[in-house]
Amino acid sequence: MSSDSSSSNPLRGVNCGCGERAPLRTALIEPNVGRRFLGCVNYKAETGCNFFEWANLKPCPRGKEFGNWIVKKKIDLEKENDELKAKIREFKLREEWLSVKLNSMYRNMKEMEDDHALKMEEWKNKFDWNELEMEELRLQVK
Ligand SMILES: [Zn+2]
Repeated sequence: MSSDSSSSNPLRGVNCGCGERAPLRTALIEPNVGRRFLGCVNYKAETGCNFFEWANLKPCPRGKEFGNWIVKKKIDLEKENDELKAKIREFKLREEWLSVKLNSMYRNMKEMEDDHALKMEEWKNKFDWNELEMEELRLQVK
């Protein structure tokens, strides 16, 4: 970066609103990838003045190449991020579905148990009743 502030740089010595020399940067956003600009020295901090000015310089070929690589990388990462987010959504839906299914299975099992207890009670009553009938028959036969 220091080579950009050489005496041949006509923008040398431009200050941003923060009162400090605005550093020369390279744009990494389409359609200006590789284009040079002067930006606020504190542009990352909340205290920055948002100073911005295109530098009247030819785009640096290496900067443009690197910028294009960065832009492509960013697009790739965003795509990957979207894919992962979609996968997480899919997993969450699947988890919800499994949870619903599991709850339904528990409910069915409980119903079956209750039903089974009822049936057992019925059978037991029936058996007791049969025992009584048998006893009566036995008494009649005697
Ligand atoms: Zn500033």
